[in-house]
Amino acid sequence: MNFKLTTEQEMIKKMVRDFTEKEVAPYDAEIDRKGEFPWEIIKKMSETGLFGISFPEEYGGAGADAVCEAITLEELARGSGSVSITLNAHMLCAHPILQFGTEEQKKKYLPDLVAGKKLGAFALTEPVAGSDAAGIQTTATLDGDEYILNGQKTWITNFSVADIVLVAAKTDPKAGPKGISVFIVEKGTPGFIVGDKEDKMGIRGSDTGELIFDNCRIPRENLLGKEGQGFKIAMVALDSGRFGIGAMGVGIAQHAMEEAIKYAKERVAFGKPIAKFQAVQFMIADMAMEIQAARNLVYQAAFKRDNGERFTVDAAMAKLFASEIAMKTTKNAIQIFGGYGYSREYPVERLLRDAKILEIGEGTSEILRMVIGGSVLR
Ligand SMILES: Cc1cc2nc3c(=O)[nH]c(=O)nc-3n(C[C@H](O)[C@H](O)[C@H](O)COP(=O)(O)OP(=O)(O)OC[C@H]3O[C@@H](n4cnc5c(N)ncnc54)[C@H](O)[C@@H]3O)c2cc1C
Repeated sequence: MNFKLTTEQEMIKKMVRDFTEKEVAPYDAEIDRKGEFPWEIIKKMSETGLFGISFPEEYGGAGADAVCEAITLEELARGSGSVSITLNAHMLCAHPILQFGTEEQKKKYLPDLVAGKKLGAFALTEPVAGSDAAGIQTTATLDGDEYILNGQKTWITNFSVADIVLVAAKTDPKAGPKGISVFIVEKGTPGFIVGDKEDKMGIRGSDTGELIFDNCRIPRENLLGKEGQGFKIAMVALDSGRFGIGAMGVGIAQHAMEEAIKYAKERVAFGKPIAKFQAVQFMIADMAMEIQAARNLVYQAAFKRDNGERFTVDAAMAKLFASEIAMKTTKNAIQIFGGYGYSREYPVERLLRDAKILEIGEGTSEILRMVIGGSVLR
C-alpha cells in the first residue's frame, strides 16, 4: 500500500491548482452572482487540456489515470463548484462512449469531447423519475434505420451548452431496467428541443435545465452499446461520476476550511484571535480530519477503477461521505465567520449552497446508503 501520489499525479495536481488559482477562483463569486455559464473559463480549460486528462492519447487525451481525474475535479472545485460540475457532467457523456462505443462512434465523437471543443451531457432524469431511474418514460422506437425519441428530461447539467447528449430511453417499455437503451444525440437534430433553465440555489454558473424530444429521429448507429444495455451503461457511468462528485466535495470542503483558518487567525474576540479558542480549534480539527478521510475514500475508488476492480460501493461511499462532510464543513465555516459568514460578501455561504447539490445529484444520500447497505448486508 502506498499513499504517496505518483510524479504524474503530483504534476497534474500542481498544474490544475495553478490553473484554478489564476483562471477560476477569482471569478467564482461573479459566476455565482450572475448565474451565467463560465464560457471563458471553459475555453481556457479546453486549451489547457483539462477535458482530456483521463482519456487515451489516441483520442487526444493525456492518458492519465482515474486518480488524476479525481484530483482535477477536486482542485477545480476548490476554485468553483460550477466549473467542476460542468466537467463532471461532461465526462458522464465522454466516458461511456469510450467504454461502450463502437470504433466509429469513438472516432466520431471522442476527439472533440476530449479536447473540450464540444461539451457533453448525460440525460437520465425525468420529471417523474429521478432516484427511480428505471421508471423513465422517454421512448425510443425503431423505424427503419432510425430511432424516434419522444419524452422529456429534467435537471440536465450542460443541457443548453452541450453539443452531444447521451439520452436514456425505453426501447422496450415493458421490460423495466432491461428495456432501457442509451443513445448519442447531437444538438440541432430536428425534434431535440432545449427547454427552460433552472434557477438554482447553488452551482449557479452550471447550466441545468430541461430537454424535450419530440419525434426526434436519430440514426440507428447512434445506439450506444446494445438495446437493453442502457441501465447498465448509466450505472457504470455513475460509478465514475460519483467519485467525481466526492472529489468535488473534498475540493469545496478544503476551500471552506482554508477560509475558516484564515479568518479564525485574523478575527479578534475577547482580546485574542478566535483561533485561540478551543471550540473553534475543535471545529477546524474535525474539518481537517474529515477532509482527509473523504479524500482517501475518493482516491481509493479511483484507484480501484485504475486497477480494473469493481468500485460501485467504493464510489458510493466516497460520494456519500465527501458530500456530507462538505455540508458539515461549509456549515461550520459559516459558524466560525459568525455574522459575516451569513453575508454574500464572504465566500463561505456560497460554498454551503454549492455543496448541497452533492447530496442530491448522481444518487441521493438515501439511495447511496441503500447501495452500500445492500452490499454490506449481502
Ligand atoms: C443541479 C442538478 C443537476 C443535475 N444534473 C443531472 C444530469 O446531468 N443528468 C441527470 O440525468 N440528472 C441530473 N440531476 C437529477 C438528479 O440526479 C436527481 O435529482 C436525483 O437523482 C434525485 O431524483 P429526484 O430529484 O427525482 O428525487 P426523488 O427520486 O423524487 O427523491 C426525493 C426524495 O425521496 C428519497 N427517496 C427516493 N426513493 C427512495 C427510496 N427508495 N428509499 C429512500 N428514500 C428515497 C430521495 O433520497 C429524496 O430524498 C441533477 C439534479 C440537480 C438538482
